[in-house]
Amino acid sequence: MSQSSYQYLRWLPRVFGYGATEKFVLFGFRKNRSSYSSRSALIHSYGYASADDRTDYLARFPMNSGPFMKYPGKVRIAMNVIKPLLSCAFAAMIFVAIGNVHAFELQWFGQSAVKITTDDGKIVVIDPFITKNPKTPDALKDLGKLGKVDLILLTHGHGDHVGDTAELARMTGAKVAMNADMGHTFGTLGIVPYEQLIRFNKSGSIQPFGAGITVTMVHAEHSSEVVHEDAESGVKRVYPGGEPVGYIIQLESGFIVYHAGDTGVFGDMAFIGEYYRPDLALLPIGGHITMDPAHAAYAVRHFLKPQAVLPIHYGTFPPLKGTPEQFAAALGEFPVSILLMAPGDSKRF
Ligand SMILES: [Zn+2]
Repeated sequence: MSQSSYQYLRWLPRVFGYGATEKFVLFGFRKNRSSYSSRSALIHSYGYASADDRTDYLARFPMNSGPFMKYPGKVRIAMNVIKPLLSCAFAAMIFVAIGNVHAFELQWFGQSAVKITTDDGKIVVIDPFITKNPKTPDALKDLGKLGKVDLILLTHGHGDHVGDTAELARMTGAKVAMNADMGHTFGTLGIVPYEQLIRFNKSGSIQPFGAGITVTMVHAEHSSEVVHEDAESGVKRVYPGGEPVGYIIQLESGFIVYHAGDTGVFGDMAFIGEYYRPDLALLPIGGHITMDPAHAAYAVRHFLKPQAVLPIHYGTFPPLKGTPEQFAAALGEFPVSILLMAPGDSKRF
């Protein structure tokens, strides 16, 4: 190996740790480099024959004058194996960490329906009101285009939230999580088989995919009856829907999404803001049956204080008159990002 070729090896310590260069020299290329004698290799492995040898060696390989030189030869050799491995592991950790930060995707279908593709590729759909949603683009109304779905979360029993839950659960086999009482209504009526249901309640948490993702059910100020049409008779009846809820979803990276469901402002949003510290809040702003823009802005300023807000549940039907512009105006100078998405849009975080 020529002197100039050898110079290129000097970048190796930066990637694989100090000691990598000498290993290349010792185990691969040493014999081609005339100025590096076999005696010098022996000295490197087992210690120096004299102070002059050490001076000579360090002049050739200054990168080896680090802390491990004080150890006996065999320890030094072991460290020279371990150090590159540690460097690789550290580089891998940095790579994974960078890859995991803000690496999920959120797609909004209009009203409260969203699809979250998590950092690890799990698909979570919340309130899948899609095929009959006036705001969902026609191209997205084919439920088959959702692909696999791992988890469906329902905030309450109203039709603009339950939407396509029964069909989507049947097509995908996804688990369907909801408040425990509404779960009995869904199970006994056969809307979703009991085996697919996850019934829990406010303050309760589930980890449907193991430790990576935690979903916590929180309070919402609304109502939750279930209107169900009997498939044979066509008769509609009203059934108990338990209580409406919101969800705190902690993703693999630690990013916290708060989906408020349908709700008015309530004082315990202060607890949600202080305890869960949501990064992104999905808040209804349409008014009439939920918060209007002024209420939602109040909740953001005084209680939730998230990094970003996606306004939802507006413009779908005529009474839901609130707009993102009114919401932004009500927020004034408060430091929060307002995400403006059209139904069907996706955004990576
Ligand atoms: Zn609604």
